[in-house]
Amino acid sequence: MTDIRLYNTMARKKQDFIPIDADNVRIYVCGPTVYDRAHLGNARPVVVFDVLYRLLRHVYGPDHVTYVRNFTDVDDKINATALARKEAGAEGTLEELVHQRSDETIGWYLNDMRALRALDPDEMPRATEFIGPMVAMIEDLIAKGHAYEAEGHVLFAVESYKEYGRLSGRSVDDMIAGARVEVAPYKKNPMDFVLWKPSSDELPGWDSPWGRGRPGWHIECSAMSYELLGATFDIHGGGNDLQFPHHENEIAQSKCAHPDAGFANYWLHNEMLQVEGKKMSKSLGNFFTVHDLLEQGVPGEVIRFVFLGTHYRKPMDWTEKKRVEAEATLRKWKELTSLLYDEQLDEAKNSPVPDAVLNAVADDLNTALAVTELHRIAKNAKDDVRSRLQLAASMQFLGFSWEQRWDHSFGHSLEKILGSPVDLSAYEKHLAAVREQAMLSKDFTEVDRLKLMLVNAGVEVRMSKTDVTLDATESFDPSKLEDL
Ligand code: AMP
Ligand code: ZN
Repeated sequence: MTDIRLYNTMARKKQDFIPIDADNVRIYVCGPTVYDRAHLGNARPVVVFDVLYRLLRHVYGPDHVTYVRNFTDVDDKINATALARKEAGAEGTLEELVHQRSDETIGWYLNDMRALRALDPDEMPRATEFIGPMVAMIEDLIAKGHAYEAEGHVLFAVESYKEYGRLSGRSVDDMIAGARVEVAPYKKNPMDFVLWKPSSDELPGWDSPWGRGRPGWHIECSAMSYELLGATFDIHGGGNDLQFPHHENEIAQSKCAHPDAGFANYWLHNEMLQVEGKKMSKSLGNFFTVHDLLEQGVPGEVIRFVFLGTHYRKPMDWTEKKRVEAEATLRKWKELTSLLYDEQLDEAKNSPVPDAVLNAVADDLNTALAVTELHRIAKNAKDDVRSRLQLAASMQFLGFSWEQRWDHSFGHSLEKILGSPVDLSAYEKHLAAVREQAMLSKDFTEVDRLKLMLVNAGVEVRMSKTDVTLDATESFDPSKLEDL
């Protein structure tokens, strides 16, 4: 079995990954607050943890991994949109409009992330569906002396948990000095954080022993991970910005509620994404959503490819140059894998992932090294079927489609570029005849040669068991067909 090593933020070093139960490897990743479309930065953890999910499924088997990623659908901005719609005359109660808004943004999110070829997690709980378990956990924390009620709020008492700050390596005093904590008269310690807060009549709320209210953000993940993965699971992930306070608070809640359990054994954090060397921000004009890019015609696979080029623990810079290079590389690789046909297609689907690629990803998700390996494999793939199979298997493992060739440049129509359709029927007939011969003689050398010439001339070649179809692509160059 492939050895996996992961950098554990809690241990501050790379460690061998040993699952609690190899039959059910369990991972929880903090998902988005669904108030609007996901920006490009939000997509980074999705792609990073999708690579990890695919690796775990590859090593332990697809049915032996449980991946949970939540939706935070309790949020003031969701409420504000719902309220604005209600004031503008939308039908339904405020609660219904709140739910509608989250349904809408969750739908967008899933479409965008699927376009990046991120697999859906096994479970995608919505916080609003787990209010009962949250209330139960808060009651338990009060009973155990870790939380207290004050003016309709319930607060977690950080001083009651001696290890508070271990993940981020800070002491409570340092945190008070450095953090922008909300100072409130009802807090015993300024670092105490909210588990439950009151809701006014015009805001969504749930009945609780402390009155009508709603949960704090941190308790959502503690309750949902406990319900779906148990008191101890393997991996907990999210962006670096969540280490403090979100993850620190999750740990405090979960360890105090279940003192005999370990909560998460490995903590993984991705670094942030920036754009052209600058932090993404609306005021700098470099803020955009995944949907904006997809709308501009940037394929989701290109976004994925750019992401994989940087190790997840390094800051990643999205640049136009990288986007252009990624598109060219993927286009080239897809051309190479499209040279596979007939029984080779099935073989490619079941080909082993080359060790160099698998080991790179298994070494703390070194996708940048894996991509370098793919470049090496691709160099030989033009002339060598084995390399083509390896390229296809590696692309599949990293979440790229090797079966779909790109036959046009994105955002441009082929007709516009070529002026008029190109007639390739004579070449189709010729190739079909040569292939028929080859099926009898079992010697495909000439078929391969013709196919390669066509591809080099910018022709897409599709061969099914019965048909040969040729289509001119945007890079079609008729002069390269003269020798044929
Ligand atoms: P949020 O909806 O703000 O809670 O964020 C959802 C996820 O996106 C979290 O895991 C964040 O850490 C992550 N995230 C937000 N901004 C960025 C960024 N610029 N780069 C990478 N990850 C980010
Ligand atoms: Zn969380």
